[in-house]
Amino acid sequence: MESARVRHQQYVRGQFRLTDVVETYLARIETQKYLNAFIQVYADEARERARELDERRAKGESLGALAGLVIAVKDNIVIKDHLTTCASHILDHFVAPYHATVVEKILQADGVIIGKTNLDEFAMGSSTENSYFGAVRNPVDPERVPGGSSGGSAVAVAAGMADLALGSDTGGSIRQPAAFCGVVGLKPTYGRVSRYGLVAYASSLDQIGPFGHTVEDVALLTRVIAGPDPRDSTTVPVEVPDYLKALNQSPLDLTIGIPREYYQEGLDPNIREAIQSVVDRLRKAGFTIRELHLPLTDYAIAAYYIVATAEASSNLARYDGVRYGYRAPQAEDLQEMYFRTRSEGFGTEVKRRIMLGTYVLSAGYYEAYYKKAQQVRRMIKDEFDAAFREVDVLITPTTPTPAFRLGEKLDDPLQMYLSDIYTVTVNLAGICALNLPIGETPEGLPIGMQLMGGMFRESDLFRLGHFIEKQLVGPVH
Ligand code: GLN
Repeated sequence: MESARVRHQQYVRGQFRLTDVVETYLARIETQKYLNAFIQVYADEARERARELDERRAKGESLGALAGLVIAVKDNIVIKDHLTTCASHILDHFVAPYHATVVEKILQADGVIIGKTNLDEFAMGSSTENSYFGAVRNPVDPERVPGGSSGGSAVAVAAGMADLALGSDTGGSIRQPAAFCGVVGLKPTYGRVSRYGLVAYASSLDQIGPFGHTVEDVALLTRVIAGPDPRDSTTVPVEVPDYLKALNQSPLDLTIGIPREYYQEGLDPNIREAIQSVVDRLRKAGFTIRELHLPLTDYAIAAYYIVATAEASSNLARYDGVRYGYRAPQAEDLQEMYFRTRSEGFGTEVKRRIMLGTYVLSAGYYEAYYKKAQQVRRMIKDEFDAAFREVDVLITPTTPTPAFRLGEKLDDPLQMYLSDIYTVTVNLAGICALNLPIGETPEGLPIGMQLMGGMFRESDLFRLGHFIEKQLVGPVH
């Protein structure tokens, strides 16, 4: 697949018509319907916008950073006057009254939005099987999951149905599907990208981020969507660097850390070897590489699933049949209406989390669970801060295994939760991390490597990622 950056440049030079490209993508979406990557496709709108852009180009007007590119958006990010379902029955008729900030920015940069992608209901899951609209399939092997919860966005890019896509990452939902599908995905630093218009799952962990074929592509889209937003008070007023320019700088000044705890039992040997081989080549190329320890990693899954479910139980209280979305018919009184609406509207995994979250927040358990989890969270953050005083970038696996089979972990929530073991720490600490495809297993399943960086150090990840991609790994698809 061609890089979005290259395609943008070709478009600006007049090498293809966007109207043709949109037709190609729409045709691919049609022939790959079995992947179930999209919940809605905006065929007519995308055609119309492409026509306008082609005309503007013909007139010699100046074009934005995303001109010539087709973008897919996860269906938990709102687009004015369009459905935003979160892959839930409770919102399956909900029409958004405004644009998310990231959507506004994409439109201002002349991107064409082709549709909304499938996800685990309310972004809760690691396989995109928990969708009211059915499971998404991995294009590399349709009997396997694409990862989750942003599975539809990862698949849209991997299977050539969009140049770029947006996902959201609360505990790994961009990086894990990127790893399973063989694309690049970034979880930006907490506060780097506005969450205005992202349907909240766990507000202190959620962050919107991009998918693309190359590090450059992801840098390009990050540059467009990042920056402080007066409508999201958790965004941080720090300057957004010119990420594409940063790619030209040699990354040899960056010190690399290898946290031992990420390479223990449970890691697939093919993934271990692939990462080892990249690390060996980095050493040969002259990088300083240090081993270090992050012993609190063992507590991350427990802390994450307490904090995330606690916040989810509170955020999802708004779906009560009164204010948003679905309302159960035929209820005798208000109490019954609430009960039925939520019983019928939410799927199993969402209910499990609301119950767990309500439990850990309830009097008598709060101190033992929620408060403890918050303390552990702070300690994990401190541990990362200490590590980033020693090194600039940490290299870890993104996932313990390659893409698993559909249905394999559906009946075992704990196994499903453990597939996030290497990603949730990043969200607890608020730092940034990138998935980089670095090879394949003998069966041909993509292998991902994770680069973690300090707060607002996305440039470090892009510089090192770009170097590895260009100098060490080469195109893996
Ligand atoms: N799999 C994790 C969860 O279910 C992460 C989801 C996400 O990042 N949105 O909570």
